[in-house]
Order: sequence, then structure tokens, then C-alpha cells
Amino acid sequence: MQGLHQCVSVYGDRMIRLNIDGREIKVDAGKTVLEVALQAGVYIPNLCYHPDLPPIGACRLCIVEIEGMEGVPTSCTTEIREGMVVRTNTPRLKKLRESIMWLILSELPRDIYEPSQLKEVVGCINAKEILPGHTPHTRNLPAPLDEQLFTRDLNRCILCGRCTRMCQEVRKIGVIGFINRGINTIVGAGDNLSMKDAACKFCTACVEVCPSGALVDKERFEEKDREKTLLPCTNTCPAGIDAALYVKLIAEGRFQDALEIIREKVPFPLVLGYVCDHPCEEACRRGEVNEPIAISALKRFIAERDSGRWRSKIKIAPETGKKIAVVGSGPAGLTAAWFLKILGHSVTVFEVMPEPGGMMRWAIPEYRLPRNILDKEIKEIESRGVKIELNTKIGSFEKLFGQGFDAVFMALGAPEGIKMGIAGEDGPHVLDGISVLRSINLDGKADITGEVAVVGGGNVAIDVARSALRVGAKKATILYRRTRGEMPASPEEVEEALKEGVKIDFLVAPQAVLPEKGKLKAECIRMELGEPDASGRRRPVPIKGSEFNIKADRLIMAIGQRPGVPEECASLADKKGKISIDSETMACPKKGVFAGGDVVSGPASVIEAIQAGRKAAASIDKYLGGKGEIEQKFVPEEKEDPCLGREEGFAYRERAKIPTLPVAKRLHGFPVVEHDLDKKKAVKEAERCLRCQLRLKISKAPLPPK
Ligand code: SF4
Ligand code: SF4
Repeated sequence: MQGLHQCVSVYGDRMIRLNIDGREIKVDAGKTVLEVALQAGVYIPNLCYHPDLPPIGACRLCIVEIEGMEGVPTSCTTEIREGMVVRTNTPRLKKLRESIMWLILSELPRDIYEPSQLKEVVGCINAKEILPGHTPHTRNLPAPLDEQLFTRDLNRCILCGRCTRMCQEVRKIGVIGFINRGINTIVGAGDNLSMKDAACKFCTACVEVCPSGALVDKERFEEKDREKTLLPCTNTCPAGIDAALYVKLIAEGRFQDALEIIREKVPFPLVLGYVCDHPCEEACRRGEVNEPIAISALKRFIAERDSGRWRSKIKIAPETGKKIAVVGSGPAGLTAAWFLKILGHSVTVFEVMPEPGGMMRWAIPEYRLPRNILDKEIKEIESRGVKIELNTKIGSFEKLFGQGFDAVFMALGAPEGIKMGIAGEDGPHVLDGISVLRSINLDGKADITGEVAVVGGGNVAIDVARSALRVGAKKATILYRRTRGEMPASPEEVEEALKEGVKIDFLVAPQAVLPEKGKLKAECIRMELGEPDASGRRRPVPIKGSEFNIKADRLIMAIGQRPGVPEECASLADKKGKISIDSETMACPKKGVFAGGDVVSGPASVIEAIQAGRKAAASIDKYLGGKGEIEQKFVPEEKEDPCLGREEGFAYRERAKIPTLPVAKRLHGFPVVEHDLDKKKAVKEAERCLRCQLRLKISKAPLPPK
């Protein structure tokens, strides 16, 4: 974001020669002495200067001597001229800077905020000599003010005006300014309003440019975590989809551009719009202000409006003559197949089931993901020339290599339910959750009747309970050993399950199962929460003497899954059935064989599986002699306008309500429960975004040399 304030040159394109501290410098006209000095590696102390802001010369630290000129002008406001001779570090200037710094520090707390530009500048202006006698006067200003996302400590403010210029002149929001007069001057909003009430847009550009530590992020972070902390939506997406950018494009009504941003990274934008567990939303900074942006619903909105324009932009590489076998047609397998095909390889996907899609088809109920949506995106992959062979077992690796395949990608998923290891678990009427979902999703029915108890707290447990009510259960109760706060299931799904009549008994675990006159009886125990375990959640601890029995027609275990590696690949699996790989290359110990997705990680989300497929495609391409570059740019990079503009009540704008099917209409069959946002709602929702990416584009303030 450089050059916002560059002085207008009266010299046109003329070059100017000047001398700074004995160095001859030749530069374009129109720059200031400070800019030229910094560019040339001559550091002049400064605090109110920032490369993205109009200079004001307020702190006076950047004073210099210029031959033929009276006094000591500020170098940030003095334009260079032909033949200028500038001195930046004479004894007189040093003395003056010490006095200026003394005055600045005289009204600040003794402990200078660290890390801050002020701390570094104090260090470079001979702090050892000026600080011992430093006795600050307290300004008796309020203690740090707790805003959303940042704190304001007025006692640390040096009134440099960087934040106010950023807010008023660059972002044009105009929330903060100097208020009061004379020694009572502070930075704030009129009427002492909180930032939220004063129409702040929480772009936190003010925090970024504050040199003193008066404005600081609430969430402290190390420099290496900067992007992840300040732009969490884009940086928490496992597949690296630039959520911040597509949300912005939706706000601008550029729906096809927004879709193409997603299409650059994944072949399943629509499926993700329906079922992504959206870690981006959990991390969204708008959530700290009021409610996170409905990123997933926005993704669905644009994916539903795909005009197919991206097809004309995609570049298919010439055929390489290499053949790849992908084993498993779930999200990891099909994503790898898609990218490998685009890179010019011949790809065949082998699937043991009668239909493709893996867990997207057999594990996710149709009320969350209509099958025509899944079919549409799989057809797109097939239309590129990916072959899918259904009802097919691969036999052995030798057989595949014998058929001319050059590489194999194992994306087998994690289709087997885990047992609890309690007495009576193998008895009649005890089922495993993932098998129940598979029967319902593939055959439309399952051995479900009467009262059903489901054990578990993840999405599978919720999907089983909600599906059970749709295929004949009279009542569905989930038994979960922790509390609602620790449930790994998505909160929205839990909410919808409760609306549909699913009951959840928290802090309960079954200990044994006994047959009981055509039904079953589960002996349960109540739990309490103890110390956190390895997952960070508090460990459930049984309460002695709290045993009780429940009766049910079916008990369904939904406590987790494991991979089901077939006999012929068993040599690659560990005790838990997972395939071990090199984490960088995804290669298995067997040459030419790669693995990824749930078969390596254990059960994970669709977007995590997609990322595994992307990484595998890049790695396999490299193995076959390519560069492993799977990404293509459909939307050229653009310079973003740093102006956000003012909007009263911005912080209070509520998240769009996702329309849902009335509960009364849900339980007959599997009609889709969540509906699409309409155009007006989608654009309004996207406009709530804080545009966190803009902060990362702010230039760095010049610091003293180390
Ligand atoms: S809050 Fe920071 S940026 Fe704003 S005037 Fe004070 S010191 Fe300068
Ligand atoms: S407010 Fe916008 S840019 Fe910031 S994290 Fe949320 S979606 Fe991303």
C-alpha cells in the first residue's frame, strides 16, 4: 500500500542528485528527504511517519540539517531538491532528538511496551543516557479499554496521529480522532463511545500502525503466526481456499469470480457448500465482534450459481503417457484424480461400492447432501476423462503395476465402526453407527425400530440419531459421556437434531448391554468432568454408585471409525489399520504407492480429505517427473482498495439466518434441511466481513537498524 501520500513532483520524471551524510544519491524527483534516506539505507529516527500515511512532521524526531536552510526541518515533510546537502546525525541533531524523546517519554509509563517501534527508537536515541532520570507524570487516564479484538491504553499514547490518519484518510471510516484539547488530548471516538458503538469496522489498521503499544491486539502472536492470526478464515481452510477474497467478491456481486477462487483449489465447491465443517467460520474474526461470517453458506450460494465460465479458463496439460490408479472414490481419491488428470496423466479410480463418492455418499445423510449435487460434481470429474470402475477390488499392487499403472494412490477412507469393548456389545440389536448410515444411505433402510439409543458425541452420532427418526424410530436418544460444550459434532447439527426431537443425555456412558424380552437393557453410569485429556477436553470420570439402566429397541455405537485396509494391502497398515506414509511426499514404503485421507489420518472432514487429495496429486506428479504444480489462477490478482468507508451500526449487523425446512416437513423421507441464501441476503452477509486481508497489506514502519 505504498505511495498513498507521495508528494506531487514539480519536476516531472526528472532525476535529482543530492548528498545525504556524504553519500551522493540520484533518485526520482517528488520524494521527501526521509523517504530517500530510508531507501538509501540511512536511518533517521521517526515515530509519526508511516509509509502509507500522509506525513505531518508532528513528532519532530526526523529533523535534519540542510545546507543553506535555516533551522532543522522535519525530513518527512521536506521534498528533495537538486544539489541538496543533508546531514542526519550531527551532535546538535542528536541533542535535540534526546530532548524530544525526553518530552515524549515524560508522559508515558516507565515500562515502554515491548515489542514496539517506540521501544526500538528509544533504544537508538541513546536511551541509556536519557532514561535514568526519567520521571514520568501520570496522565491519570482510564485503565486500558477493552474493545473487541484490541485494547486501547491511552496512557501509552504518544499522540503521533498514525491511527487517526489511517482511520480517517486511508480507511475513510472516521471513527477515531483527537478529542479534547491541550494536555487533555486523547485518541478516541466522540462522546467517549466504545469502538463498537462508534461505527468501528474492526479492520485493526490502527493497531497495525500504532508505534507505542497504546493500541494492541488482544490475541498476542509471534511473527510466524501473523497471517494465521490476522486472516484466520483463509489460513485455517485445510485446502487453502482464499475465503476472505471470495467473501469480498460476493459483496461486490462478482459471483463467478468468487466461484473461480474456490475452483482454483477444489473440485467440490457445491458439496463443500452443503457439508463443509467450516473451520474458517470457527476462526473468523467477525465472531469476536458479534457473529462469524456465514462463509459456508456463502460458498453454497455461489456454487449454486455456477455458470461454468471457469471451464473456459482451465488449462489441461498435454498427455504424459503416465497411468495412475486411485483406490477409493471418496473426496481424497476424486480430488487427486481431478488434479492428476488436469496435469495430463491417465487416471482410473477403483471403487468397491456400486456408486462413487465414498463417505460423501455412504456416510452423509441425504438431508444434508442431496445426491444430485454429489452426482453433478462427480460427473464433472468424469467428463474430464477420469475413469471410475465401480464394484471393483484392486487385487494386488503387483497386479496394478502389471496392468501398466505407474503409481497408485490409496484413498480408502475409514469405513469400519469402532467397538466400545463392553460386555454384551456383540449381542442382538446392538449396531454400529457407520454401518447403519451405510445401509440407510445406500439401501434406503436399516434395522431400526422403536426406541433407539445412540452412543457418541460426534457428527456420526448426530447423523445416526436424525436418520433413525426418518426410517422408523419412534424416539432417538444420544448418550454422550461429556457435556454439550465438549461435543465434537457441529453445533448447528446438534441444534437441528434437538429441534427434530432427538434427546441428548449428557455425562452418561453405557457399561454393559443385556438382552431384555426382545429389546435390550443398557447398564449406564453417570460421569463428571475431570482434568483435561490429550485432546484438551475435560476427561469424563465415572461417578461411583450412579449406575442406572435404560431400555431400548436398538443401541447404536457411534464412537469412531477406523480404516478397513483390504488383505492385499495389509502389509502397509499399522495396528490401528492406518497406512503409514512419509508426511512430506505421502509415499508408502512400497515404491510407487502413495496414501492419504482417512486411511492415513483416521476419520476427518471432507475438506481435510480434499486437501490430502491435493497434496497427493502434487506429490505423485513430481514422482512421475512433473513439477507438482496443481494450481491454476482463474482470477488475476488485483490491487485492493484500502478504503472501507463509514457505516453506522456496522458492528451490530447480524449474521444471515440460514433458511431451513420446517421441522414438521423433515421426517418423511430425506428432504434437504438447509436452504440456500437468496442474492440479497448473501450480498448483505458478505458485506459484514471485516476485510481482515487489508491489514496484511499495510507496509512495515521503518525501524532502526539492529
Ligand atoms: S494510539 Fe498509537 S497510533 Fe494512535 S496516536 Fe496514540 S500512539 Fe499514535
Ligand atoms: S471477517 Fe472476513 S476476512 Fe476476517 S476472518 Fe471473517 S471472513 Fe475472514
